[in-house]
Amino acid sequence: MADRSFRGFALALLVLCLCSGAPPCLLLHGNGRAVFRGSVGRLRGPAWAELCEEILDFRSQEWRWSLRLRDGRTVLAEGSEEQGFLVDHCLLPEALLLGNLAMPKEVRVTETALAGKALEATVDISRNRGVFQELPFLVADRSDLARSRLAAFRDLQAHPEGERLQSAFEELTTGGLEGRCMEEAAHLVDSQNSVEEIARVLARWQCNSQRMSVPPASGLYRLHSFLQHSCAPNCAVGVLFSTGEVLVRAIRDICKGELLTRNYEREAFLELQYSERQQHLLQTRGFACLCKRCTRESGEKKLEYGGKLTADSVKTDPLRGLTAERAEALAAALRGPAPRPRGRAWLTWL
Ligand SMILES: [Zn+2]
Repeated sequence: MADRSFRGFALALLVLCLCSGAPPCLLLHGNGRAVFRGSVGRLRGPAWAELCEEILDFRSQEWRWSLRLRDGRTVLAEGSEEQGFLVDHCLLPEALLLGNLAMPKEVRVTETALAGKALEATVDISRNRGVFQELPFLVADRSDLARSRLAAFRDLQAHPEGERLQSAFEELTTGGLEGRCMEEAAHLVDSQNSVEEIARVLARWQCNSQRMSVPPASGLYRLHSFLQHSCAPNCAVGVLFSTGEVLVRAIRDICKGELLTRNYEREAFLELQYSERQQHLLQTRGFACLCKRCTRESGEKKLEYGGKLTADSVKTDPLRGLTAERAEALAAALRGPAPRPRGRAWLTWL
């Protein structure tokens, strides 16, 4: 039943977009890839170690991509691994990017004591209503994640709208995962960024990205990233595989002022016991859940909060509803083991 109403919602959104004159998503499909026309992308392979300024078209008869390079040349490139064009990562076309930074009137970004930024309803939202929809502002290939994610961030900095995009990126939480990303960052360090800066970039991706199937990639969204996890969520999120767009809808009535929450895991996760849920979230996502349901089921002192606890928030606000011992134990669990120095890159950093 829920699935049916969600499909109805997606269809209604599509019709709304077509009728309202919103910019159509010009998605090009080719060589197993789907890319927005006008995206900036990176070319991979020995002959193509350069930046594509704009993806113009996919010529299906020739099975080639038409691309404009940074130096103004227009080229046709094949899509094979050896000699051609692979979308390592891409930024959306500018018009879509800027539209993406606009705030829908139903929500606002708010600061919570323990989990940083969150989304709050600015109006009453009834069950099954669409809350917002959003395209990713950055997409990275999944085959070489860390390198692609760093390259995507650097191209975002170089974009004409770089400042706004960079602040959207930096608004995303690192979730206290920098420590866990240090080893990977040490392999990527160069003269452009320190290992700590790279670790922060990787942590933001790890903490906020949404898996996309077509193309196999991970995407970063601005508002969607502010949705807090809850084991009794008030919103559900769907991804339109054709465009990578996320659709967020209310799965129960939401009151004005309430935080918008979603389940970060698969539906079956919600059937698990309290301790199993906590263990899973700590291991896979690096936080302990303090949603109302977990607080109730843990039998601990009630926290006036529905969301998550990260190493950083434990550190900055350890006494809000927690004993000092438990806060320290949680912080230690969230920090994980210290990164091990390895290889030349690490020595360069030292
Ligand atoms: Zn929970």
